[in-house]
Amino acid sequence: MISYAEALDLFGSDDLIGIGMQADSVRRRLHPEGIVSYIIDRNINYTNFCTEYCSFCAFYRPMGHPEGYVHPKEVIFAKIQETLDLGGTGVLMQGGLHPGLKIEWYEDLLSSIKQRFPIHLHCFSAPEITNIAEVSGLSLRDTIARLRDAGLDSIPGGGAEILDDEVRHRISRLKCSTQEWVDVHRTAHQLGMRTTATMMFGCGETLEQRMNHLQIVRRIQEETGGFTAFIPWTFQRENTSLGRFVKEEATAVEYLQTLAISRIYLDNIENVQSSWVTQGLKTCQLGLRFGGNDVGSIMIEENVVSAAGAHHRASEEELRRIIRDAGFVPKQRDTLYRTYFLN
Ligand code: SF4
Repeated sequence: MISYAEALDLFGSDDLIGIGMQADSVRRRLHPEGIVSYIIDRNINYTNFCTEYCSFCAFYRPMGHPEGYVHPKEVIFAKIQETLDLGGTGVLMQGGLHPGLKIEWYEDLLSSIKQRFPIHLHCFSAPEITNIAEVSGLSLRDTIARLRDAGLDSIPGGGAEILDDEVRHRISRLKCSTQEWVDVHRTAHQLGMRTTATMMFGCGETLEQRMNHLQIVRRIQEETGGFTAFIPWTFQRENTSLGRFVKEEATAVEYLQTLAISRIYLDNIENVQSSWVTQGLKTCQLGLRFGGNDVGSIMIEENVVSAAGAHHRASEEELRRIIRDAGFVPKQRDTLYRTYFLN
């Protein structure tokens, strides 16, 4: 393990290849069999109504907006059936923070999906769970336990952005604080659920603030061991109000450097994802030599980053090809990163 100060020094280094090689050796230690995984799943955004007005978000619509929606259950069922028909194993269901949907609405949705479909439900980021608890007048623990009992299998790391309250105050003033994000994940882990950790960087934060984020994630993992993966991606500025202030998106070099440092510093988290959705296939492929051992989802449907200008597309065969061409063995996985599939 390297220290916070050593990791911060790597951010100041211009030896990109050296950092990549160091990350690659951590990746090899954790995944000596040379497998790079991907998942077939689908993002379902059950509502785009939201009360938080995050400045980096091009997805939400304010309450009452004519383009706002809450998907009826039948629409969600049809999307899940389509996912299963395409060989999918899970759905990542997230939405805006709706002030009128109480926990019973979510319990009914989860249990009616589970009654109909054999599918892993990876749903509701920390801000949504905090919102459900508030709207329903429940403790965080009871909220997560009730969602779990209704069918929630695991929790995505969305809503982390940069876990530093100065940054959060600037880009998502109304959304959950660093402590609230930590509390959701820690509580879920204590209740026996697995979650992922994410980081959206390149939104004007300092390198120290980026490191603070990595340190928080590392400490939670030391305490609970509940994170399955770390998934960093870059802020996509198109159609966002923050994009008027952050003139340049992070470059591919900055992405690869941050990915590699994440792999080196977070060596207590088994999986690190190289993102093709925000970076494109070529950078994603390079990321496999900068510490990444997973390329994420083939993304049957994705509305949030495409609303902010990321329009990359890939089929399963393309993802398998870039993995093979980088010298690895492609394997389909499930949401909990199990690659027991025979392919
Ligand atoms: S990022 Fe999430 S919480 Fe923020 S405005 Fe968008 S949908 Fe709402």
